[in-house]
Amino acid sequence: MFVRVRYAPSPTGSPHVGNIRTALFCHFFARHHDGVMFVRIEDTDRARTVPGVEEEILESIRWAGIEWQEGPDKGGPFAPYKQSERQAQGIYQPYIDELLNSGNAYKAFDTPEELDEMRQYQQINKKPFGYFGGVWRDASAETVASAEAEGKRPVIRLKMPRGKMLVVNDAIRGRVEFESDLVDDPVLIKADGMPTYHFAAMVDDHLMGTTHIIRGEEWISSAPKHVWLFEAFGWNPPVFVHVPVIKGKDGAKLSKRHGDTRMLDYRAAGYIPDALANFITLIGWAPGGDREIMSMEEIASAFRLEGLQPSPGVFDADKLKWMNGNYIRALSPSELISTVSAYVSNPEVAAYFSSEEHKDDAVVSGVALLRSAFAERPDYVHQVLPLEQERVTTLAEFGPACAFFFVDEVDFDEKATEKWFVGQAHVGPLFDHLIAGLTGKNAASHEECKAMVQEFVDKNGLEKLGPAVHPTRVALTGKTAGPGLFELMEVLGPARMIKRLQRAKGMLK
Ligand code: GLU
Repeated sequence: MFVRVRYAPSPTGSPHVGNIRTALFCHFFARHHDGVMFVRIEDTDRARTVPGVEEEILESIRWAGIEWQEGPDKGGPFAPYKQSERQAQGIYQPYIDELLNSGNAYKAFDTPEELDEMRQYQQINKKPFGYFGGVWRDASAETVASAEAEGKRPVIRLKMPRGKMLVVNDAIRGRVEFESDLVDDPVLIKADGMPTYHFAAMVDDHLMGTTHIIRGEEWISSAPKHVWLFEAFGWNPPVFVHVPVIKGKDGAKLSKRHGDTRMLDYRAAGYIPDALANFITLIGWAPGGDREIMSMEEIASAFRLEGLQPSPGVFDADKLKWMNGNYIRALSPSELISTVSAYVSNPEVAAYFSSEEHKDDAVVSGVALLRSAFAERPDYVHQVLPLEQERVTTLAEFGPACAFFFVDEVDFDEKATEKWFVGQAHVGPLFDHLIAGLTGKNAASHEECKAMVQEFVDKNGLEKLGPAVHPTRVALTGKTAGPGLFELMEVLGPARMIKRLQRAKGMLK
């Protein structure tokens, strides 16, 4: 199958998970068929265009691992790929002239007050909303000419057919029928001469050879207008693929409440792009079987439109964390180092965790500690990171989890010291035993550390390792949970351990 798909965002706000999912579907579909994906920026609504968002869109899809072959940043055989530039080149003009000449479009001179009045009338009388022709759809050439002579500026509307069944062939839903009498006449060209989305997008889809329009389900009600535009021109329409909406676990439309929605926030929050791409692709698409963790290659080879579900996809933030943890654990030692090092040197991270919404001082300070440690003692960081790799679910968690390795004095968790530093007669002698064993050593392997603790347990008839392991962990890390004690002891090294054990000794009651 020959495939040319377009990702056609309007730069009106930061791209969110739903937008990126559409882009991912385009990417995987094109890749599966050795086709082409292109990016087209739909910026004809100048009032709603937000500066900087176009760059953010490209950055977001690039970060998600999406590959496109043509676009505003790359050029291509159908350049320009930005509708404002296409409009400035006069690309749309002949097509609107053609529709006016064939009687499929008409000029409408309604004033804003008249349109308001129409809306009120429809509301009060419970009529379908929209512009169904007014006085202009069938106005005579003379009436139009005299309005123009008065200097009024019209919009140009599409003349939807009446009394007809419009059929949209949707790859997910099959044949979807719309009664044309219920479809209003959309504006194609605004009074300022700019084409609307409906017009520019469909003309471009024809000119750019789009074979499949993959987009959000919210566009399905516009699809009969689009199908009719193709018919009015005598062009073959592409296949429509309206992908299901995304809901939260509570069944409500996805919003901030369910987690971040802005794509690049996930980068700041410590997600691995492949994990996020894997997770997002599975919202509303199923590969068949119970496969969940899939590489970009595996998804591309499994990606068929038949796997898209008509029912809403569910966004499950816990599942995303679980998946991200899996991807972190799968990083090779060198990938782990480069990934964490890039993460902690990204200024977005501190900004994100300092914002009111995501405030987390432990992450901000932990990330700063890691950043300076990478610069000052890289070998030590390289030893530390693998110890936490098994335990974290986001890159942000490395900061707070590893902080105890880098501080001069650990922060003690009060509950931990209460439990292990108060009224435990064996703990003082235990710390002395360890200090004596470590003194004069440059290094202590985890086997040696374990032997030292075991020796104390045996000599003192403690039955289990626990009563020796727990207080030692609190003395060295300040916490009751963390990586394996003997492994972390090996990495901390004798000098740091002796200092920490001595300080802890002074706290025993
Ligand atoms: N420009 C539209 C948007 O950003 C895309 C609609 C379409 O894909 O046809 O939502």
